[in-house]
Amino acid sequence: MHASAQPHPRLDAAISHLADLIGFDTTSAYSNLAIIAHLRTFFAELGAEVTVLPDASGEKANLVARLGPADVPGIVLSGHTDVVPANAKSWQSDPFCMEQRGSRLYGRGTCDMKGFAACVMAAAPAFAEAELKRPLYFCFSHDEEVGCLGAPAIARHLAELEVPPALAIIGEPSEMQLINGQKGKIAMQVTVHGEGGHSSFAPQHVNAVEYAARIIAMIGERSRRYEREGPFDHDFSVPHATALATIVEGGVATNVTPDSCRFIFELRSIDQEAASGDMQALINEVEAALLPEMRALAPAASIEWQEIFSYPAMGDATASAMFKQLESILPPRGGKVSYGSEGGVFEIDGGIPSIIIGPGSIRQAHKPDEFIEIDQLGQCLAFFDELDDWMRR
Ligand SMILES: [Zn+2]
Repeated sequence: MHASAQPHPRLDAAISHLADLIGFDTTSAYSNLAIIAHLRTFFAELGAEVTVLPDASGEKANLVARLGPADVPGIVLSGHTDVVPANAKSWQSDPFCMEQRGSRLYGRGTCDMKGFAACVMAAAPAFAEAELKRPLYFCFSHDEEVGCLGAPAIARHLAELEVPPALAIIGEPSEMQLINGQKGKIAMQVTVHGEGGHSSFAPQHVNAVEYAARIIAMIGERSRRYEREGPFDHDFSVPHATALATIVEGGVATNVTPDSCRFIFELRSIDQEAASGDMQALINEVEAALLPEMRALAPAASIEWQEIFSYPAMGDATASAMFKQLESILPPRGGKVSYGSEGGVFEIDGGIPSIIIGPGSIRQAHKPDEFIEIDQLGQCLAFFDELDDWMRR
């Protein structure tokens, strides 16, 4: 891969596709059916075999489009269609109307991750014209940003094909470096049910806020234990699991002992298997330490644990057969990342080894004035040229 002085011949097409995609407000809270219809028309007109996978609500859908033969293992190019919310007041320009300023394109989703989708669309006509020896699967999911909710249906769909794909490339922003690992996450909501009353009688009550604070402290202690004792994987910039509380809500008045407190915490793991075991160990530890003392005062007191969502860590695909075949055209390695992606889902639910390669920087994601450097789109298109050559061989 090389960054040439000449702009890539398909760069204008990619920019124009990106402007179209940014125009769809696909904040995760809203339906994504309009952008899916747009992609469906686009890929159907290229002659791809297109499958739309609606969710149970009918308000959301995934899309899978295939170019090339179905009877040999192929490669997945995957992106999510949803974006995180944008508060227009903190933006310099309309987040859902792409604006070019200098070498950058601004808009919600420019880097996370409609820039990748735009490059896929710009490259797709060449893939469609080529005599592909292997299939390419273009996958677009819903609700990645709220816990990878759409991707499992895509992964299962691909796994059930007569010949499933052998490698997935997830286009999350990696500045076009090859990422071969990603942390998993479990997000939990905890509700502490205590017993309240006039706060002047506090010793007779089970103060839910106080017990929540003690649980939160134990979660923090567990995180510091990961930091001290590992397990470690130094390919991650934070080379161990982490755990922290992120939202707390409880109490009603200055003179009432709170009988309920709700908080949310996350566990980010480097290991696919260890995460659920670690979570159960934490729950056991908390309940053994606190429940007897809560129930001594109020027999009905309880701690309620509810998983909000979870997605698995993405393991290292570099030993897989398809990776080895493709390796000569892949960009340089950029380590492993602590943010979420659908790679672990493709791997666990679909049995498809996954890597991340995408344009833009994660530093610009999820912020006001999100942008992508135009040069990043050029680099992504250059990579797709190499992929195109390779797919014809
Ligand atoms: Zn993303």
